[in-house]
Amino acid sequence: MTPEVELAAVALTHHSHVVCLTGAGMSVESGIRPFRGPGGLWTEHGEPDLNDYQRFKRNPEEYWKSLLHPQGFMAELHGALRSATPHAGHVALADLEAVGVVSFTITQNIDDLHGRAGSRRLAEIHGNHTLARCINCGRRFFMEDVCVDTLPPRCPTCDGMLKSDIVVFGEPIPDDVARTCIDEIEQADCLLMVGTSAYVYPAAGFPRHVKANGGTLIEIGPYPTEISDECDIIMRDTASSALPALLGVVRRRLASSARNG
Ligand SMILES: [Zn+2]
Repeated sequence: MTPEVELAAVALTHHSHVVCLTGAGMSVESGIRPFRGPGGLWTEHGEPDLNDYQRFKRNPEEYWKSLLHPQGFMAELHGALRSATPHAGHVALADLEAVGVVSFTITQNIDDLHGRAGSRRLAEIHGNHTLARCINCGRRFFMEDVCVDTLPPRCPTCDGMLKSDIVVFGEPIPDDVARTCIDEIEQADCLLMVGTSAYVYPAAGFPRHVKANGGTLIEIGPYPTEISDECDIIMRDTASSALPALLGVVRRRLASSARNG
């Protein structure tokens, strides 16, 4: 029987537009607790207010105060985000992009670790904790460059209100990111899902869309998910172990096909 890692490597090298979708399982190994599931922040502390975005718009000053001085488990989360570093899985995924095998990465994570690991063609569907975003024109700024002397801070370009780039409950996915994701998923003939059950929309629609277009679904993760039954290839392993292994086999295959012309 061919090992799953070989099957996955063959699939990655035989498809022309591989999109990778990552979720909380990717971040866990960098010390960032998931929101949902066992050990999740919301599992322990309860689901947050589903009207977070309305609350921001009603009282942006209060929102910024709690962003700048997080309390309770939010303080824990911010601390974990600040100290997290990319693991071997993040680096291997960036290398899979660099060797031309992964065309694009869509992440549901806000931790900035894919970018830091070197992924360049990247959409952060739920935002990036190191950035602020203007809710009027959509421009993004490094959080550390935002002047917070008066709250809420304003956009230097259009004077719109800034908020964290992190997408909160009730907030639409920013237009530019949503458009990019739809475009990439439309082109994808293979979806590599890492550490995600693709449970939360809009990501939940991606595997079904790729499958309906005749594409191949690959799942990497230690536990079965809601989508496992629909996957063509499954590596039951953690991201930090599976992705470097996959990169190794992909490199070997690329080298041998280069030798064989
Ligand atoms: Zn603006």
